[in-house]
Amino acid sequence: MEGWFSRTAVDTATTMLTEPFVHEYMRANIWHLKGRDADLLVDTGMGIRPLAPEIETQPGKPLIAVASHIHLDHVGSLHEFPERAGPAWSADAFATMPDAATYAHEFRALQAPVSRPPHAGWNATGYRIRPAPLTRSLAAGDRIDLGDRQFTVLHLPGHSPDSIAFLDERDGLFFSGDAVYDDTLLDDLPDSDRATYRTTMRRLLDLPVRIGHGGHGPSFDGTRMRAIARAYLERTEGP
Ligand SMILES: [Zn+2]
Repeated sequence: MEGWFSRTAVDTATTMLTEPFVHEYMRANIWHLKGRDADLLVDTGMGIRPLAPEIETQPGKPLIAVASHIHLDHVGSLHEFPERAGPAWSADAFATMPDAATYAHEFRALQAPVSRPPHAGWNATGYRIRPAPLTRSLAAGDRIDLGDRQFTVLHLPGHSPDSIAFLDERDGLFFSGDAVYDDTLLDDLPDSDRATYRTTMRRLLDLPVRIGHGGHGPSFDGTRMRAIARAYLERTEGP
């Protein structure tokens, strides 16, 4: 089907894709960054329609697909890519993608999971996340090298225990997954932890971020990110 994904050119190296017909709770951002020696794909959407054919790469140039965490809206198409990196904390679960880790059952339970079906006869009851065993487990401090850029892996739990993010410390480009984004932050999922999320927010206050591309919502600069972090800390302050 034409047009399941929407595509926005952010700059000459960066494209953002999303799935406009997916319920807004689960409509996540997919980031494709072109590097000199390799490309980076941060998160892979719901897996309702194939994503790989939508990602334009140069023949022979590796594409490193990374998952920011194991929730359904970030890992659905991960299985389509040969190089699959993701958080060490949930590495075992990527091999089977159980609903208990991905929350795929929550999509099946929605009243209107999509505003337009991906094809005739489609039904959410058959929705499953395909297993995508990681070819590389990422821990805090690991590097992802694109030749002209290196990203440092940060472990920023709270939304989920396995939330990781990718920071180019040289120029402040930050792919933050669901650790922080400019929209309603979710900290009440079964595997969320508010105290841990507060620790993450305090860490964000000191990160040298120039531009952040998150798992949901619009991109943000460092000033906006710190405002989001401070607002979270104020909102969740104890009695
Ligand atoms: Zn999530």
